[in-house]
Amino acid sequence: MSDFKEPFERWRLTRIINVSGTMTSLGASKVAPEVVDAVSGVLPSFVFIDELQARASRIIAKATGAEAGCVTACSAAAMTLGCAATITGSDLAAIEALPDCGVKENRIAVQAGHLVNYGAPIGQAVRLSGAELVSLGSAALCELYHLEHAISTGLAAALYVVSHHTVREGELPMDLFIERCREASVPVIVDMASEYDLQGPIALGADIVIYSGHKFLSGVTSGIAAGREELVRALYLQNRGIGRTMKVGKEGIIGAMAALERWATRDHGQMQTEELERVTQWEATLGDVPGLTLARHADWTGNPITRLRVTVEPQRAGLYAWELTARLAARQPAVVVRDDLVEHGYFFLDPCNVDNDEATTVGDAIQSECELVRAAGDGLQMSWSEVKRARAQTPLRVLAESAP
Ligand SMILES: *Cc1c(COP(=O)(O)O)cnc(C)c1O
Repeated sequence: MSDFKEPFERWRLTRIINVSGTMTSLGASKVAPEVVDAVSGVLPSFVFIDELQARASRIIAKATGAEAGCVTACSAAAMTLGCAATITGSDLAAIEALPDCGVKENRIAVQAGHLVNYGAPIGQAVRLSGAELVSLGSAALCELYHLEHAISTGLAAALYVVSHHTVREGELPMDLFIERCREASVPVIVDMASEYDLQGPIALGADIVIYSGHKFLSGVTSGIAAGREELVRALYLQNRGIGRTMKVGKEGIIGAMAALERWATRDHGQMQTEELERVTQWEATLGDVPGLTLARHADWTGNPITRLRVTVEPQRAGLYAWELTARLAARQPAVVVRDDLVEHGYFFLDPCNVDNDEATTVGDAIQSECELVRAAGDGLQMSWSEVKRARAQTPLRVLAESAP
């Protein structure tokens, strides 16, 4: 076999232990063996893509309770194409004319607290379709009158985002949001990219619901759109227009199908038991490390995941939380923790993407970095503002060779 079978040696790539969750920047998922098999099965052959998508539609419908579904390049693509579908419907000339909307209604409303950044801004995924973005309320308060005012002045659709990123304080709950939009015949798109609940939003009457194929589902990079048949068809038809720049191939489509089938037959209870065992193991390893305080943390949006929150008391631990996470990421293999709230002095260990050996390595790595910093006294050097200042330069260095 070719050297590509050993990409880490061949390309001198950093090995990673991922205790952060599914992140695009880390290659999303450990793709499940069943999915790898399904993808290998189709790659060497030709296939009628419309036929494959029709089969995908059936599997997505079964998994979500929706009328129909299709596979897209990713969730972000599904969001843009879903927005486009609500503007153009199945009008092929309008589909080719996007992002110019002509006389068609193109306003799409999103609660201000849902305009988050998942790696790119939600608002941009909406506007890429040619939509005019209507932001409802303010960061931490959206009332029904904000939505009703937008509806009364005309909407092509409304988008609801479920994510740990959103501001959940003061938001309109999904059931009420959908109910009010339905009364006004405004289609609702729900972004559930990272959520386990495959059926909830459809049961509440959502028109298009979006999932990521490469997050909890452990598929290859792909997005899944489920919903009303007419709108899903209009979404799929966008491939004759703006969808071409975000095309999914046969590998993505069959990968998403295999991932959904696998998810349906998995023993989820067993999976959660194993995840909790890793958390328990970390508690045992890290319980006595000076300056660290541990607490179990239930998932922000109700996914059945328990993570371990590690709070770093700087004076006792001898370093700031962000210094500890940086030291962990600099190890070989890199230990990447969930650090999006690290400015508050804590980070999380996510048990979903590690095996038992990796979990052991993570506990040992944290213990060892804390010991090293106590012995050398070289922590407490970089304030959070200094970290932010340094980070401003990081994106501008991508594609520079760092490995020897
Ligand atoms: C990850 C994520 C996305 C983007 O998903 P991709 O499939 O990687 O494009 C969009 N919205 C939310 C809420 C997400 O968590």
